[in-house]
Amino acid sequence: MVDTKLCVFEYVYFARPDSIIDGSSVYNARIEAGRRLAIEHPVEADLVIGVPDSGVIPAIGYSMESGIPYGNGLFKNTYVGRTFIQPNQKQRDSSVRVKFNPLRSEIEGKRIIMIDDSIVRGTTTRRIVRMLKSAGAKEVHVRISSPPVKYPCHFGIDTPSRNQLVASTSPTEDIRRMIEADSLGYLSIEGLLKTPVGVRCGLCTGCFDGRYPIEITNNNIQETENNIEMT
Ligand code: SF4
Repeated sequence: MVDTKLCVFEYVYFARPDSIIDGSSVYNARIEAGRRLAIEHPVEADLVIGVPDSGVIPAIGYSMESGIPYGNGLFKNTYVGRTFIQPNQKQRDSSVRVKFNPLRSEIEGKRIIMIDDSIVRGTTTRRIVRMLKSAGAKEVHVRISSPPVKYPCHFGIDTPSRNQLVASTSPTEDIRRMIEADSLGYLSIEGLLKTPVGVRCGLCTGCFDGRYPIEITNNNIQETENNIEMT
């Protein structure tokens, strides 16, 4: 039997939520990620919201497990392209401001749990936390539906180099301070691997634990202009 390793980020972020990959539903995997996140990192709050698009389904899962209501606290301007394809930090920062709009009537005076799919550099998350606080959030608790990204990808996903990956250089408490959140919790690798129920192939977790499915040499590193870049 061939030992295969599918990119686990397909379930977290890349794939359409209505996809079934290798027999496992992406939608159900994201709900399960949110449920597990609520078990691993509970917190008292008034409302769970998701950062569109891929934070929304795990936010519903977090709400189902915790019993804390789910609400639409952030809306996405569909006329702006994906943040991560902006060529530099300044452009990424300004497009975050244009890209998301907080709904003050939902957020004001509340303790918010904000779910996102990942933190790469940390700057996008900080902008969204600030946005929620300026819309009147009393507290913002950030929960991430994947583990800390500490290592680069060599298989076509254009992650920044290790020194730009905030989780590679800083412990969680430092990242919490940097993004100005009241608390921060990531889904564990063990938890994430249990989310695609019924998946038959193996899963690559290289960017979380540095354990790549093949040996990385100069000959097999995928560095092309077509790499997909991560925020
Ligand atoms: S290293 Fe990370 S992004 Fe790259 S294939 Fe593996 S899980 Fe996916």
